[in-house]
Amino acid sequence: MRPRRGILFVLSAPSGAGKTTLAREAVNKIPALELSISLTTRAPRKGEVDGVDYYFVSEAEFKQRLARGELAEHANVFGAWYGTLRLPLERAIAEGRDMLLDIDVQGARQISALYGPDVVRIFVIPPTFADLEIRLRQRATEDEVRIQERLARARAEYQAYPEYDYLIINSERTEAVKKLWAVAVAERLKVSRLSRDFAPWN
Ligand code: 5GP
Repeated sequence: MRPRRGILFVLSAPSGAGKTTLAREAVNKIPALELSISLTTRAPRKGEVDGVDYYFVSEAEFKQRLARGELAEHANVFGAWYGTLRLPLERAIAEGRDMLLDIDVQGARQISALYGPDVVRIFVIPPTFADLEIRLRQRATEDEVRIQERLARARAEYQAYPEYDYLIINSERTEAVKKLWAVAVAERLKVSRLSRDFAPWN
């Protein structure tokens, strides 16, 4: 018997908030937290590895898997498709394992609608909008048009933070990871997540 159901920690942030790095560090530092690997039709960036950062798939494959009902959520971001596989999530919930999903606001809404009480939503922002712009430019993987696109989208995404359960202002990564850790620890202790027949004293 599992003492509790698994939790889906959904991490959303405007592009450039340092979320991907934060997500990677969180799964390294927080015990028993697995990173959900998304499907995407976008091209790999330098250094990205198929099956580690994303499953890089063609648009045809993405559409096919979507039609077969394999995706728990999907969204089009900057002209590319992104989606989360349903099976690993449902297995994790049933087996009492926790997963971290690094997905956008549209995806977070779909995951919430599907898995309600098993979802914890966390929004990450840099301290100021200017910080976001600096981080985006430092990354230098996009041209100016793309940067402007991401900045405009970031402003729009920012408006969604009241829909989330937690807000983390990412001024210092170690601090942000600690905050994420605190959220995970507290959420894991919630009585409402325990199996009905959980009886620690028996
Ligand atoms: P990037 O291309 O920079 O890795 O990601 C762009 C945006 O897509 C980020 O906001 C990221 O969180 C989001 N994203 C990544 N994977 C998924 C996914 O599976 N579903 C959704 N809805 N968004 C995703």
